[in-house]
Amino acid sequence: MSESTKLRPWSGDRAPADWGLGDGQAIPWEYAPAPESREIVTLKSRYGLFINGREVQASGGDVFASIDPATEEVIAEVAKATPADVDKAIRAARRAQRSRWGNLPGRERAKYLFRIARILQERSREFAVLESMDSGKPIKESRDVDVPLVAAHFWYYAGWADKLEYAFPGRVAKPLGVAAQVIPWNFPLLMLAWKIAPALAAGNTVVLKPASTTPLTALLFAEVCQQADLPPGVVNIVPGPAAIGMHLVSHRGVDKVAFTGSTEVGKLIHKATAGTDKAITLELGGKAANIVFEDAALDQAIEGIVNGIYFNQGEVCCAGSRLLVQESVAGPLIEKLKDRLSTIRVGDPLDKNTDVGAINSKAQLEKITELVAAGVEEGAELFQPACDLPDRGYFFRPTLFTNVAQSHRIAKEEIFGPVLSVLTFRTPDEAVEKANNTPYGLSAGIWTEKGSRILWMVRKMRAGVVWANTFNRFDPTSPFGGYKESGFGREGGMHGLHAYVRLEGR
Ligand code: NDP
Repeated sequence: MSESTKLRPWSGDRAPADWGLGDGQAIPWEYAPAPESREIVTLKSRYGLFINGREVQASGGDVFASIDPATEEVIAEVAKATPADVDKAIRAARRAQRSRWGNLPGRERAKYLFRIARILQERSREFAVLESMDSGKPIKESRDVDVPLVAAHFWYYAGWADKLEYAFPGRVAKPLGVAAQVIPWNFPLLMLAWKIAPALAAGNTVVLKPASTTPLTALLFAEVCQQADLPPGVVNIVPGPAAIGMHLVSHRGVDKVAFTGSTEVGKLIHKATAGTDKAITLELGGKAANIVFEDAALDQAIEGIVNGIYFNQGEVCCAGSRLLVQESVAGPLIEKLKDRLSTIRVGDPLDKNTDVGAINSKAQLEKITELVAAGVEEGAELFQPACDLPDRGYFFRPTLFTNVAQSHRIAKEEIFGPVLSVLTFRTPDEAVEKANNTPYGLSAGIWTEKGSRILWMVRKMRAGVVWANTFNRFDPTSPFGGYKESGFGREGGMHGLHAYVRLEGR
């Protein structure tokens, strides 16, 4: 640290100009590098598909590369499934469901799920490191949020496997059959857990397609299935391009479709399954309002706002990407937010001090860059902290826009990046109107000390999840899902189990 940037007591004013930090910047802390070792992961140079309990190469012999978004280097090659491979995986899943898994008593299915949960916990560091390498998310998030939640989902649904008669009293819960599951790249392993754990607990078997930029933890999970002695065919994993996802979900051999990803693809999948008897759940995009009232604890709200939009680089469907602030506190809140942004550390996802890692792909970085340019073009005021970005890799500075109008693209479109748009309101009615002024309806946040106001707001807002005085809290017992263009159906909790059963009378 040079003499001029050494830490000194801060008076609360802006940093002096001679510190060269730019206008309004807080004093930076410098941390020594704290990289997590990659050695815990034994990388293969090539990964196969996982069909019928075995790793197999793709029938076409093609592979694609999985890239580390922080370095732009190839991590490994992955077999690219063909439609014939998907057909084979579905046949294996059907055989396993009919001959074994669907007939196992719940307590026996539970044993496998408990075993998977335990192995995931034992190998948690390995999963966290690989997830950060493949997706770009900070290690402290994959280690402390993603992987613990993954294990928690398996524990939770293992607990339900032998209690379906209590989950659905007076009814008989039958499995649907074979589930086709297509998942995105923002929470690769967590989305796998949200889908596979309830499906298996209810007696279904699955064929899952991971996103092409993040297939590796799903393939490591295949090893866990082998380690847990899961019967062959119960879980099948077929990495491949978008067309493979479409082939899978529209296949006549599947009974249930579960998709998480963009609204655009969700609509295509909805169309492809319309008129069939497949059960379907769609968890799509969002443009959540995080609403701060003048009576809120502002410093606490700042942490919730930062967590709401900069967690996982903002690549979160329920991210609080629209901040609605009551006009009377907008000035001080935005000042505090700018100071807080200046302390966010952007960089190596495997560094334990990193707050914001790499954007998942070049394409996603380009999308964010384009939308931020549109924000400037349309007249919003841009603020970015003066942090250095690594020379290589797909990185983007935490970004804040003020003077945003509801008509701006940055206030309407899902950016899926570390970009916050700030709007103001005067009355609770106006806050509700602005919060609901979106085609999406996945999540929302409210910051106020008045319980009655929270309850009033919750009733008026069209959002599947509303957090009060917190944000981005997840728990396996709690259902998650959206309204409007954010999709339908719920994952998590007993609702998530319901999506994988057919209820019959006794
Ligand atoms: P997609 O919706 O395209 O990808 C999600 C998954 O669907 C991936 O496994 C993808 O495969 C697969 N897929 C893509 N096209 C099809 C298709 N026609 N039929 C069946 N499966 C398909 O998201 P993108 O990666 O393109 O991201 C674009 C935008 O979507 C983001 O900027 C963000 O706004 C939003 N998004 C929302 C997510 C959410 O959690 N709600 C998650 C991810 C993105 P492949 O990877 O091989 O293309």
